[in-house]
Amino acid sequence: MSDCVFCMIANGTIPASIVWQNEHIVAFADLHPQAPVHVLVIPREHYTGMADDVPGRVYASLCEAVPHVAAAAGVAESGYRLIVNTGPDAGQTVPHLHVHLLGGAAMSEGMVKLA
Ligand code: AMP
Ligand code: ZN
Repeated sequence: MSDCVFCMIANGTIPASIVWQNEHIVAFADLHPQAPVHVLVIPREHYTGMADDVPGRVYASLCEAVPHVAAAAGVAESGYRLIVNTGPDAGQTVPHLHVHLLGGAAMSEGMVKLA
């Protein structure tokens, strides 16, 4: 997708602070971090989100990448939270499937603050 910001990060057209990558996955620092560690993990292939008939192999690549990304970000031992915003109520703003990896400090027990 030529006009997708995350595709452009994945193919190097626009810069990002890359944390970890392999042939299927790119992980980079979120531009507006909401925790001391806030990394976005994305497939190189473009899918708009979880409602986009994403093949299982893409989810497998994403999940396999997570421990590597966590280690590279320095939160493998301290722990982290994964969030996948999907659609308007979740506040998804970038229509390229992505996993937020958040950590670096203890988080609240409640996982959701309603708007
Ligand atoms: P979401 O609201 O789940 O769609 O999350 C999109 C995330 O992408 C937000 O947390 C933004 O801060 C982040 N973001 C948008 N553009 C960029 C960019 N160019 N580089 C890094 N993070 C970005
Ligand atoms: Zn894309």
